[in-house]
Amino acid sequence: MNPPADATARRAIAPVICYPVATLPAPDMALLDAARATLIKTGEVLVPPRDAATFTVPAGHFFRITSVEGSQVGDLNLWNADDLSERFYSGKTRALHGTHITRGQHMWSSFPALRPMATITHDSLEWYGKDEFGGSVHDVIGTRCDPYTHNLLSGDQYHHCCHSNLTRALADHLGIPHAQAEPHIHDVLNVFMCTGFTRDTGQYFMKASPVRPGDTLEFFAEINLLGALSACPGGDCSTVHSSDHAQCHPLLVETFKPDAATLENWSPPPVNGYNRRHGG
Ligand SMILES: [Zn+2]
Repeated sequence: MNPPADATARRAIAPVICYPVATLPAPDMALLDAARATLIKTGEVLVPPRDAATFTVPAGHFFRITSVEGSQVGDLNLWNADDLSERFYSGKTRALHGTHITRGQHMWSSFPALRPMATITHDSLEWYGKDEFGGSVHDVIGTRCDPYTHNLLSGDQYHHCCHSNLTRALADHLGIPHAQAEPHIHDVLNVFMCTGFTRDTGQYFMKASPVRPGDTLEFFAEINLLGALSACPGGDCSTVHSSDHAQCHPLLVETFKPDAATLENWSPPPVNGYNRRHGG
């Protein structure tokens, strides 16, 4: 197709940021760092390879995901522990913070609450930045590996995609059937996963994660949280997922409690201020 005469001029228009975040209240990292300095461990769960586990974190506490044994990525779901209809909103987090998130950025919750549910307080892979392919770590692009897309592309039945792992873990936690738990599973934060979009076709790509044993991603719980983490069957996501071919490792989730005095000037964020009349 022939481009219009002014094609070059149209392409040359500079982009504008859709959602400038200057008006967002920035997390008080000095306050959170002071709280971090007082942490006492309250619990831990080891997420087995190609499986998932749940954990709870009260508002004002912290949780930390750590690579153990070998390079491994994790798919994280978060819910308001008191109301599962409020859950992590990957798409809006992406719209606000970009394709990958790190220290000082929030995980936002779904409508109508749309509030910070967790804040990243430490990221040992913060040094990675963006590589020459446009790749970066901890993305909110990918949805989660799932057996439906796998079936669509290959015709196979595979039962240990992150979607199914998260479904089983949530069902076990709530004591409900898989079919009842499945609708609560949502688009994830891809912890430790290194991803981007190809420059030529704009396709979602993954590459071997730079994560090594001992690397951590740490979060502050802004509200009472129920979390579920899947140790992805893709392992370090260097080759394939949705199969048992990749080498996989466990992931450690630890929870911590700060000295309450350090959070005297902190309170959980209120739900969104929109009045929900929708013009009616
Ligand atoms: Zn996965």
